[in-house]
Amino acid sequence: MVAEIIDGKAFAATVRGHVADHVARLKEEHGITPGLAVVLVGEDPASQVYVRSKGKQTVEVGMNSYEHKLSADTPQKDLLDLIDKLNNDSAVHGILVQLPLPRHMNEDLVINAIDPAKDVDGFHISNVGLLGTGQKSMVPCTPLGCLMMLRDHHGSLSGKDAVVIGRSNIVGKPMAQLLLGDSCTVTIAHSRTKDLPDVVRRADIVVAAVGRPEMVQGDWIKEGATVIDVGINRIERDGKNVLVGDVHYESAAAVAGAITPVPGGVGPMTIACLLANTLTACCRANGLPEPEGLTA
Ligand code: NAD
Repeated sequence: MVAEIIDGKAFAATVRGHVADHVARLKEEHGITPGLAVVLVGEDPASQVYVRSKGKQTVEVGMNSYEHKLSADTPQKDLLDLIDKLNNDSAVHGILVQLPLPRHMNEDLVINAIDPAKDVDGFHISNVGLLGTGQKSMVPCTPLGCLMMLRDHHGSLSGKDAVVIGRSNIVGKPMAQLLLGDSCTVTIAHSRTKDLPDVVRRADIVVAAVGRPEMVQGDWIKEGATVIDVGINRIERDGKNVLVGDVHYESAAAVAGAITPVPGGVGPMTIACLLANTLTACCRANGLPEPEGLTA
């Protein structure tokens, strides 16, 4: 079997197109422009690239982008004051504080200072609880992107055996909640899981979010399974820096029914879902119907 490639780049472009159409209608019919505020503390090069890319794509779909750059030695109180200002700014519908924060800051405290209705990353404890209890929430962008691709590929996910490898708060756990919400039978595997290859072999759907280059091998995959590779790992190969996922792509693609590549799979969906979440937050804030197909 040669796996179908799930093209996250093309899918993300479609999602951005839906968002842009909806934003245009909001402006025309209601005079509302969704706004996303992104806060960056410090000069971490990877974070700077992400923030630039988020700002650019926000503007491209017709939303307002507000960037706030603070120096690495900013006192935590100043960041909390800025978040309070953004919470009370009616032009701002989504707030994202780029992680990681400098060491002198408490990430949990900062994230939980964001108004949950504007928490477009879905990391606020209220949103985590709402998702866990199957209620309307803001859903973390990366797992939301994975869910959208799985729904698009399979239609119904009901009754499928899903194995999520990784139990982080930003990917593994919310991914498992979303799959459970779509009536999968879900296993969460992690660094202490015994006989991981055997656990993965049971799965109709494998989501790998580990951070270990090419760890998941083709002979771990059940024939015809769908493989979603969240991992982004920079490695050196033949003297060049390359990006690889958590799945050994060539061997997995030989047995899987469908697979996301790295790059060009889950990665582009994450920012597209951030824009979708900002639009959803804006619609909710204004008592308007939410866009269809862009939420969990
Ligand atoms: P994390 O380090 O917070 O969590 C990794 C998880 O993997 C842990 O729960 C750990 O138990 C598990 N793990 C570690 N070693 C293992 C092993 N040998 N066997 C089984 N499980 C093991 O990482 P994260 O933030 O969840 O990110 C995971 C990967 O996804 C990283 O490569 C990250 O760069 C990538 N990522 C991509 C996107 C995107 O937009 N595509 C977004 C977030 C994270």
